Amino acid sequence: MKWESVIGLEIHVQLATLSKIFSGAASAYGAAPNTQACAVDLGLPGVLPVINSRAIEMAILLGVALDAHIAPRSIFARKNYFYPDLPKGYQISQYEDPIVGLGHLDIELAGEPKRIRIRRAHLEEDAGKSVHDAFPGQSGIDLNRAGTPLLEVVSEPDLDSAAEAVQFMRTLHTLVRFLGICDGNMQEGSFRCDANVSIRPVGSTALGTRAEIKNLNSFRFVERAINFEIERQIEVLEAGGRVLQETRLYDAERDETRSMRSKEDAHDYRYFPDPDLLPIEITQHAIDAARAALPELPAAKRRRFQQALGLTGEDADALSADFAVATYFEELAARCGDPKQAANWITGELFAALKREDLDFAANKISPAALTELLARIKDRTISNSLAKQVFDAMWNDEGSADDIIKARGLQQVTDDGAITALIDAVIAESPEQVAQFRAGKDKVFGYFVGLVMKRSKGKADPSQVTEILLRRLKAD
Ligand code: ADP
Ligand code: MG
Repeated sequence: MKWESVIGLEIHVQLATLSKIFSGAASAYGAAPNTQACAVDLGLPGVLPVINSRAIEMAILLGVALDAHIAPRSIFARKNYFYPDLPKGYQISQYEDPIVGLGHLDIELAGEPKRIRIRRAHLEEDAGKSVHDAFPGQSGIDLNRAGTPLLEVVSEPDLDSAAEAVQFMRTLHTLVRFLGICDGNMQEGSFRCDANVSIRPVGSTALGTRAEIKNLNSFRFVERAINFEIERQIEVLEAGGRVLQETRLYDAERDETRSMRSKEDAHDYRYFPDPDLLPIEITQHAIDAARAALPELPAAKRRRFQQALGLTGEDADALSADFAVATYFEELAARCGDPKQAANWITGELFAALKREDLDFAANKISPAALTELLARIKDRTISNSLAKQVFDAMWNDEGSADDIIKARGLQQVTDDGAITALIDAVIAESPEQVAQFRAGKDKVFGYFVGLVMKRSKGKADPSQVTEILLRRLKAD
């Protein structure tokens, strides 16, 4: 039997608000335990939640970007369960009437576009965190994260491979950072996903029973966990067993998923509308305002980089996928006035330097202004392209500005005709054999002359000038 896999993702996007979704406590990451949890986050009696309007605006913004239905009226619900990190005994979430309804996100995998339907996106609060390694034999509870705003984006089961699921997640990750609604930091849990996986015989249209893998916080883990799960389910079914509807955990160290609990059904949570919170009412005016405030989205940016700035498809991809990279590129291109040159240096030297040191783009050490100075020295022929790479490396190592380094190392290109002609004549005089070959029509030896002259000049001669004078001298007699 041939099997195909079916995948739907639930992605938790942590909204980059300054304070929590229902209280005024700060939501910044990394504070000392329990220093950012107020009475509302602790679930003390006598306090009431108040919705953070920025969280609503951010949800509308994503909804509009996903071309989704924005509910004119949506409500909050209580999802009831017990866990030590949930002091109220319920999580405030949305169940019926989420703020964002049906929409879609277009992805592209190996050049193939595909539209993935979005089922909904709802607002909810995060829970606190159990801390198991701080006190021997005891667990601690840190409630700093309690009440942090999340927007949970739920896809339809339209994804049919681990690679496609990862691409969907990446595309959404790029989008939320472009919109400025999430910092996208996956290590800190700002963007994480639950993957629902099932398999079915190829050609069947009914959905198989799914397992839900919880809390995946890296693209690599999503890919591995899904692939492991697909193989596991195939083995179960081929051995005559059946897949259980359950919640599973991915263990990265052993690269396997393990059963955590049988999956609860919605009715187990006793959802009901939260009487402490008013319905959210959103006017058409607010939706139109959000649409008008949408920044240029990644796909449009990529198109513009290609069509208006003349980049190759490959460069346009590389420079539009990340908001910080795109912003850097646009500034560099505007400053140096040559988008192609800017693209080449970013995708070439800059990316290589980051990769060598295993750094994120945020750790980039050279500002667009500093790089512009270097590019200008290539344009005005102070240095050759290959020497510029040496200067770039020195800039990366904090040796100063491009001009300082060129001066300190004496790298100015020799553009003095006389000096270059003298070098060329010396080379010609000592290579009678090659001269004869060239004159007999063997064009290839020309490279020998250029190479030798460049070497003698220690790379400082202007290659185009060398070529020009060489041709003149070789053809002279
Ligand atoms: P719940 O909220 O209980 O997890 P939902 O029905 O809302 O369940 O679905 C959650 C996610 O699971 C959605 O992304 C959906 O696309 C996906 N999903 C539902 N059924 C399947 C299935 N049989 N195989 C794979 N994914 C599924
Ligand atoms: Mg779920």
